[in-house]
Amino acid sequence: MGLENFFNPQSVAIVGASRQKGKVGYEILTNMLAAGYKGKIFPVNPKAQTIEGLKCYPDLESIGEPCDLVIVIVPAKIVPTVMRQCAKVRTKSAIIITAGFKEVGKEGRELEKQVIQIARQSGIRVIGPNCLGVIVPANRLNASFGGDLPAIGATGYLSQSGALLAAILDMANANSIGFSKLVSIGNKADVNELDIIKALGSDPDTRVIAGYLESISDGDAFVREAEKISNYKPILLMKSGGTTAGAKAASSHTGSLAGGETAYEAAFERAGIIRCDSIKYQFDFSQAFANQPLPKGPCVAVITNAGGPGIMTADAIERQGLDFAKLTDKTISKLAEALPPAANLYNPVDILGDALADRYEFALNVVLDDPNVNTALMLLTPQAMTESAATAEAVVKIARQKPEKPILACFLGAAKVADAIKILREGKIPQYDSPENAVTTVKVMVDYVRWRSRPKRVVKLFPVNRRKVETIVDRHLRQGIREIGETESKEILEAYGFVTPRGSIAATAEQAANIAQQLGYPVVLKIWSPDILHKSDVGGVKVGLNSTQEIMDAFDLMMYRIPKKLPNANILGVLVQEMCKSGKEVILGMNRDPHFGPLMMFGMGGIMVEVLKDVSFHLAPLTAAEAKQMLVNTKTYKILKGVRGEEGVDIEAIAEGLQRLSQLVTEFPQIKELDINPYMVGPEGSTPIAVDARISVEQV
Ligand code: ADP
Ligand code: MG
Repeated sequence: MGLENFFNPQSVAIVGASRQKGKVGYEILTNMLAAGYKGKIFPVNPKAQTIEGLKCYPDLESIGEPCDLVIVIVPAKIVPTVMRQCAKVRTKSAIIITAGFKEVGKEGRELEKQVIQIARQSGIRVIGPNCLGVIVPANRLNASFGGDLPAIGATGYLSQSGALLAAILDMANANSIGFSKLVSIGNKADVNELDIIKALGSDPDTRVIAGYLESISDGDAFVREAEKISNYKPILLMKSGGTTAGAKAASSHTGSLAGGETAYEAAFERAGIIRCDSIKYQFDFSQAFANQPLPKGPCVAVITNAGGPGIMTADAIERQGLDFAKLTDKTISKLAEALPPAANLYNPVDILGDALADRYEFALNVVLDDPNVNTALMLLTPQAMTESAATAEAVVKIARQKPEKPILACFLGAAKVADAIKILREGKIPQYDSPENAVTTVKVMVDYVRWRSRPKRVVKLFPVNRRKVETIVDRHLRQGIREIGETESKEILEAYGFVTPRGSIAATAEQAANIAQQLGYPVVLKIWSPDILHKSDVGGVKVGLNSTQEIMDAFDLMMYRIPKKLPNANILGVLVQEMCKSGKEVILGMNRDPHFGPLMMFGMGGIMVEVLKDVSFHLAPLTAAEAKQMLVNTKTYKILKGVRGEEGVDIEAIAEGLQRLSQLVTEFPQIKELDINPYMVGPEGSTPIAVDARISVEQV
């Protein structure tokens, strides 16, 4: 069943309605009344005859007719009883405002379970518990204790924090910012963020979805749904409180670098969700998305009555990587016709300090007609002659006449521009308190448009030896071994098309020397023990050995030193490995996030990965473009391309490695963590080598 009854109920019962001012049961009832709700309201309270002039009922049954929506405010212990009553009178939707459930511990969790069990059995959808309620301005529904009914707008808001929603509401009301719907999801025992974004996604009154989340219940489904919605409606989310569960248990480089937050970032990117770092930014962005058309390109034109703010804006445009619109000759000569000679006709168009509203109107009109302009930014500083309110009215008027291009305003000041700002807001012109914030907003819009027009995701499938990997993985799981040893890790990688160095295990120095003879010098000696994860840390890697003597010495030294450092490690011998041609060392990795699945990592490799942390992430499966982008997103990329006359490496080969790895971890959900470090890469045309690898598996 949909959520229609929550948003547009014909009748509402308030169980726990109160006569006592300051109590939630009183606030909700009076909020409902003050909002001018058109349906029927039934207060339920066995101790009262009437509240606020409305007839009061002792329980739901005695109302004698069904209610579309029941708001529950009674103490937590009584909520199950009320839910049973809801079932009896066949109510299908309940908002449980009451707190004291999952959020307070074990007892509360049990109670919540009980409530949800009743709801599921009787097909009742529940918002909450522990929430602020639901607000739908267009239906004059204020089923909340959050504050006054806000204006009607095009932003649909969901919040996991009721308190934050109350603050947002207060700010919005003070700034004439409107909403289509506001939902406080509380403990999200039944209706969760996925249900709400689905509902807002298909809601014709909602042009932009905004919200605050602390956690996501079903990461996979959320990402899929959000990606679908983002294709036609922007989603702006604030997210706090990263999960560290994944990071804690990690034994790989990727695992230790990929905290919960990283997975969220990657998931948001995949889904096209615009992440907002503050309430301020969320307001800034949502105003533009809700009220203005999307820009067709990155070119911004600025109209200003002062030089300083114009330059600040120009700086911000450059910093954000946007373009300054190059006005056509036609535009410039048109501007020249009517602007004073001292005006600057080029972008930023400076119409001078004595500009009245009509000059602004003229300039904006001309600039909007220019085909090179995608977005117009109106700057105003309140100078002696400035008509800020009349200018705001002119901007609103032109925006209505020319609705094809976004117009953003930045009227700087406070008291002198207060009236103007109100006119702008009510006229659906987003207003910013600094040029930087306006420009950042344009950038976010341009990026969103780019995301929307991205090419269709096509994931390439490589021919691989899946059976081979299956055999190795299954055997480990059967034997309860989580870490796959170096040899078999390499077999797995080879089955997916990776090349690994030749080498064998030796138990004695003589054996090591013999293997080296067969491999050919130089060789590398590495300590061989299932208990040593990072060999270099204990002096367990010696590269560039060129003779029997050097091998003997290195062997003896390792066998002398390492047991001293790690007396409990089971040392089986050494691995004698061919020495790879020197190249650049990068890391390819994966850590499976508990919420969002396989999170791929690329970065600067070698033994300093954790120190330098120059890594980037993306959710698997990867397309060729996404793999390439992971490279581009690191600083290492510039080095890989070749700096200061140094030859670059084969970028495409690395991107292919990431895609092959992405295929491996997609086809084997049992693989929990994986690192190839280093992945030794050379110049174009050379084959990268997976020098060192670690794979761990888990039953799924
Ligand atoms: P660990 O990561 O456990 O310390 P590695 O096998 O990754 O051990 O080796 C550490 C470093 O030694 C690598 O980053 C690389 O610089 C170098 N190295 C290891 N094996 C080779 C090899 N076969 N050829 C060239 N360099 C190597
Ligand atoms: Mg290594």
